[in-house]
Amino acid sequence: MASPELLRERSILIAFTTRRGGVSPAPYDTLNLAAHVDEDQNNVLANRLRLTAALELDATRLTTAQQTHSRNIALVDQANNGAGATDYDSAIPDTDALVTGLQNTPIAVFTADCVPVILVDPVTRYTSVVHAGYKGLYSRIVTAAIDVLVADSGGRVGDIIAFVGPAIGKCCYDVDPERAALFAPARTERRGGKIYLDTPGIAADEIQAAGIPAENISVSGLCTACREDLFFSYRRAKVCGRQATIAAIL
Ligand SMILES: [Zn+2]
Repeated sequence: MASPELLRERSILIAFTTRRGGVSPAPYDTLNLAAHVDEDQNNVLANRLRLTAALELDATRLTTAQQTHSRNIALVDQANNGAGATDYDSAIPDTDALVTGLQNTPIAVFTADCVPVILVDPVTRYTSVVHAGYKGLYSRIVTAAIDVLVADSGGRVGDIIAFVGPAIGKCCYDVDPERAALFAPARTERRGGKIYLDTPGIAADEIQAAGIPAENISVSGLCTACREDLFFSYRRAKVCGRQATIAAIL
């Protein structure tokens, strides 16, 4: 997905990667960007360098987290930027969303079915990336990220633009009744004796409920499980790579 015009004008870059264009062999083929999967770290680094070079980003300031399906948000500042750029151990611990107003500091989360969300305030030039599985959505981590962004930027929630990236869709994400019951019935669907959950839709609902206008919310609609040609999917293959969701203030 290319940065829309407004983001270009404000020199803010956002990107959702696919599995294409990297060096990793199967089952991580080919653009695995996550260091926490059991892959040769040299491949992960090579893939990250390809990506940051293509986007003209500073690879040494790429900031990542040790994702745990928590509701924890980290503010990326002068002290912690670049954490996890080249290894998993130095990534920000126990965190599933990053927020920054720092220039030249790409922030990234990694997913393979969970919902990735990018928040951008083009007025204050702040960004956030969020990793939201069903646990994160249930705990409303996207709202928590919006709150941290607004508190630190001093901006207005209504100015934020939100992008809900490729995730497993209601076409493929069947869940047990207990999990489905955690969410609004309008975002569940019964077919053939199974219950399917629309996690991208749940994320969009949450973003709108937090005060971001509907016209500021884009949903990719691409399903990571359906599109084996484009994406890694944990549901489809437990051992797989991860795509990245990146935002950067240039
Ligand atoms: Zn699907």
